[in-house]
Amino acid sequence: MLSWDDVSLHLRALGYLPVTFLEIDCSCCNRCFRLAVEKIQDGDTIIRRWPCPGCGAMQPATILATGYSRRVLPLIERVPSRHLSAVSRAKLLESVGIRPEAPPKRKKSTNPGPRLPVLN
Ligand SMILES: [Zn+2]
Repeated sequence: MLSWDDVSLHLRALGYLPVTFLEIDCSCCNRCFRLAVEKIQDGDTIIRRWPCPGCGAMQPATILATGYSRRVLPLIERVPSRHLSAVSRAKLLESVGIRPEAPPKRKKSTNPGPRLPVLN
């Protein structure tokens, strides 16, 4: 049986390069991208932030996987944004035992509003 290192050497010999697959859900341009970039070394601090392909702003990047590819990098695919609604976010937090913050309560107005004119 081949070890992973043996497989890696074999793939490199065939022209495959190690790649890291990232996802960026950009808060600036509200678009979501999946990227394949040249493999990021483990422990690399740049891993946490990556320039958005849409607007160029540095955004938090989620590492999805590592693998191999022979295609020209970077590969960029736009995917639907996966921001959760407030209700979905609250349900998700409750499912792991975190009580979501209550929405801010509206203050009761102490101003009674305009007075009606007094008729004599
Ligand atoms: Zn962006």
